[in-house]
Amino acid sequence: MKISELLKNPALSISFEVFPPKNDTAFDNVKEATAKIAALHPSFVSVTYGAGGGTSKYTLDIAKSIEHLYGVPTLAHLTCVSSSKETVHARIEDLKEAGIENVMALRGDLTPELENADRSQWDYRYAIDLIRELKGSGADFCIGGACYPEIHPESTDQREDILHLKEKVEAGCDFLTTQMFFDNNLLYNFLYKIREAGVTVPVVPGIMPITNAKQLENALKLSGSFVPQRFKSLVDKFGSNPAAMKQAGIAYATDQIIDLYANGIHHVHVYSMNKPEVAAKIMENLSDILGEI
Ligand code: FAD
Repeated sequence: MKISELLKNPALSISFEVFPPKNDTAFDNVKEATAKIAALHPSFVSVTYGAGGGTSKYTLDIAKSIEHLYGVPTLAHLTCVSSSKETVHARIEDLKEAGIENVMALRGDLTPELENADRSQWDYRYAIDLIRELKGSGADFCIGGACYPEIHPESTDQREDILHLKEKVEAGCDFLTTQMFFDNNLLYNFLYKIREAGVTVPVVPGIMPITNAKQLENALKLSGSFVPQRFKSLVDKFGSNPAAMKQAGIAYATDQIIDLYANGIHHVHVYSMNKPEVAAKIMENLSDILGEI
């Protein structure tokens, strides 16, 4: 099923993100974790794509198995920045052959080598280039794109970031998913600005339950997200007690989701990081709210 159709549902629904293994040895563990997450019946599961395509095979294997074995729609991520046209065309053919309907079209992060490379030689510079390929592929993919309530780390100007976002959506994005954020007001401000700029597609907020202090450090390195004092206090208080930190992090994420729903947002994507117990707890915390209109 297309995610653009799922997002029309006015009741609260939750989707989860999983990431594929880096090698065959870890495949069974990841498959088991994703099966447990799929068994929670989220509205869909997204499967990330390793930078540079290192896990492309696993992304497809996992997305296919979630859809075929558990009947849960999937969103297969695909990146383009370090890939040749031939590789991207081959990946798109793989997606078509596997019957994948939903694709998250991303540029991919720039590794230090890529940052210093001669960009004039690249086949793909931005996510919009991949979206155009997907649109021209002859398949009727439902296409997602990424957006950044606190602006993309490489951008210095939010107005320009939003202009590029608008171009990306106009090239063929059916919906957007946000980078993680820990202060819902940043999302509300961002939505106001993009709507004013004429971006009208559904925006799915991405929430990451932080379950240990190290995870927070890594997440901040990647996203540069602002951490409100209320969340910093939780980490200060519980950071050295793993069980307590896990409970507090899940409670904070649940609170963010409830606030989003109370403010008119019907669908939230949870960066569950292959942790079925975290995904299950979130679903349990929301059990009386899920499906409520
Ligand atoms: P783009 O939309 O291309 O934007 C990147 C930067 O370029 C922005 O600063 C933008 O303003 C600027 N820009 C865009 N167009 C132009 C233009 N025409 N001229 C000048 N500047 C322009 N990474 C992975 O490797 N695998 C994944 O599975 C993955 N999943 C993700 C899921 C989500 C929801 C998010 C938010 C990110 C994900 N990422 C993933 C990370 C993503 O690849 C990085 O954030 C990357 O740096 C940007 O990707 P993008 O698709 O947003 O790029």
